Formats: sequence, structure tokens, C-alpha cells
Amino acid sequence: NDRIMDAHEQAQDNIEASLRPLSLDEYIGQQGLKENLRVFIHAAKSRNEALDHVLFYGPPGLGKTTLANILANEMGGHLRTASGPSIEKTGDLAAILSTLEAGDVLFIDEIHRLSKQVEEVLYPAMEDYCLDIIVGKDTGSVHSIRLALPPFTLVGATTRAGSLSAPLRDRFGIISQLEYYNLSDLKKIVSRTARVMNTECEPEAIEEIALRSRGTPRIANRVFRRVRDFAQVYNEGVISLEVAKDALDKLQFDSLGLDAVDHKYLRGIIERFHGGPVGLEALANSIGEEAMTIEDVYEPYLLQIGFINRTSRGRIATEKAYRHLKIDYPKE
Ligand code: ADP
Repeated sequence: NDRIMDAHEQAQDNIEASLRPLSLDEYIGQQGLKENLRVFIHAAKSRNEALDHVLFYGPPGLGKTTLANILANEMGGHLRTASGPSIEKTGDLAAILSTLEAGDVLFIDEIHRLSKQVEEVLYPAMEDYCLDIIVGKDTGSVHSIRLALPPFTLVGATTRAGSLSAPLRDRFGIISQLEYYNLSDLKKIVSRTARVMNTECEPEAIEEIALRSRGTPRIANRVFRRVRDFAQVYNEGVISLEVAKDALDKLQFDSLGLDAVDHKYLRGIIERFHGGPVGLEALANSIGEEAMTIEDVYEPYLLQIGFINRTSRGRIATEKAYRHLKIDYPKE
């Protein structure tokens, strides 16, 4: 799956690693969150303690991994990364935990996908910095030994805070939601990318890219790279407004940055279900997409821009959505 609008990480995003801001000062937007983190970092450092465990939640591509990286930098520790699905056995987690040094940050992406058994190893590690290991299974005298871990910070990321088990959620001292970026912040992010990638880009073109990136830095950066390709071929490498618009049209982003799946989703509600309300599963089935992807990736943005409402009876397309798709809104 290499659709350009997919905010999930893709192989080509390795280039994006070089675009990652390394300090809180360089990190654009998420103002309230940043200010809080500054305080917590300062306090932990002055007490000479590890930073409390942090949970970041929000749609993909908004900067959770980037923040984990920044926390490690600011705290002067190493960053170790893993993801929920990759930690299959309790031994896998024990192996990772046992390599941690004091002040390190362990980042677990998609932390809602950890198994119950693995989670249970995590609890004492988070709470008391220790690891309980069961030994003696072969000898018949099964008992557990407790290993001390250095003070570390667990940074968890998830697209769905609601799917985290309560005991796991309760062990995070800091729980923060990342929000979609406003136009002004996105423009700063695109300008920064242009600078880092040494590309000349007209201010109007920066705005156009920002407008059509669904409030998401990962999408903005990815779009930027594709637009840059068009500029290379058609405009001697300079990204003008014309080149940007042309490229974005060819890439099939509409004026609000909505892509083919967004359109299919909205048309699904409007045309097949008379505008709703329709349940998530029925809608997902009828348009051939996964319910979870729709809920985590597509709906949050459509909700944010007021194109849909979620009611107890299901999803409803708003008049705004009808207008955007140039479909007449049915009058009662
Ligand atoms: P997530 O972990 O939430 O999926 P990432 O942290 O991987 O998102 O961010 C995706 C990309 O977007 C990063 O590679 C980075 O270049 C860029 N990015 C994210 N947040 C910011 C920000 N606040 N300022 C500048 N660039 C950002």
C-alpha cells in the first residue's frame, strides 16, 4: 500500500527521518503539549530522575515518533523503538528492557496492540523499574526472580487511546493528544522541509501544499517530495504555485486535500445510505475498506472539518460535505 494520502509510515519515509526536528524548539505546532513537556522535562532533570511515562495518541503522521525522539534527546538518553505487534512474546519485551540504560526512552508504537501477557511484564517495569522472570519450568520448582531495571521512560503511541487497557493507561503519568495542524503551522513545516531539502518554493506554493495535506505533517512532507519531482521535470526545480497545483491535481488531491478514499467514503454515505445514519461496519463493507482504518485514519479528519457527524445511530454526512461534492442537499 503506497497510496500517497496514507498517513501511515512507508518505506520511502526514511528520507523523512532526516526531516525530523531534533529538539522541542524545532518542533512546530502542538503548542500546549510542547509547553507542558518543557515543564515536565525541566522538573525531571532538576530532580535527576527519569521523565514520567508518556502516552501520545492521535491519528498517524502527526509527530508522535518525532516527539519520542525529541524526549530522548532532551533527556540526554538513547531512544529504543519497538512496536506493539513486533513484541510477540514476553521474552521479546524482556530482551528489550534488559538493554535499557538509565535515562533511556523506550518508544512503543501501536502500543494498543500488545498482548495481555506482554502488557503484564510491562506493568512492574513501568511502576517499579523491575522485571519479573519466571525460571525453573524444566526443574519443576517454578519461581520468579526479580531483576532491577535502570530508571527509563516509556513513550507509548496509539491511534486509539480507547483501545488501551485501563491498567496500562493508568500507568502513564502523562497522557497527551496530538491534534491536526492548523494552516499556519503546516506552512511552517513545509517551509522548513523546503529549506532542509534545498528546494526553491514560492510562498503561494507552500500555502497550496499546506492546504491540501489534511493537517498532517507526514502527508505534507510526502506531497512536497512528489511536487518537487514535477518541479524538477517541468520547472527547473522551482516549485511555483502553478506546478504545485498541477502536481496536486495529478496526484488526485482535491482542494481540501481529500483523496479517492475520502470521496468513496462520503459518496458511500450519501449515495448508498441516503446521507446516513449508517453504521461503520455496513459502510466499510459497502466501500470495501477496513472499518478500523476508516475509523482511525479517515474519519477523524472528516469530523474535524465538519463533513460528518457521529451519532448513536451511525454516521451522517453534513450539508458541507454535500456542497463540497457538488451534490444537492435533500431538503426535509
Ligand atoms: P507519527 O509517529 O505520529 O505517525 P511521525 O513522528 O513519524 O508521526 O511524523 C511524521 C513526519 O512528519 C516526521 O518524519 C517529521 O518529519 C514530520 N513532523 C511531524 N511533526 C512535526 C512537527 N511538529 N514539526 C516538523 N515536522 C514534523
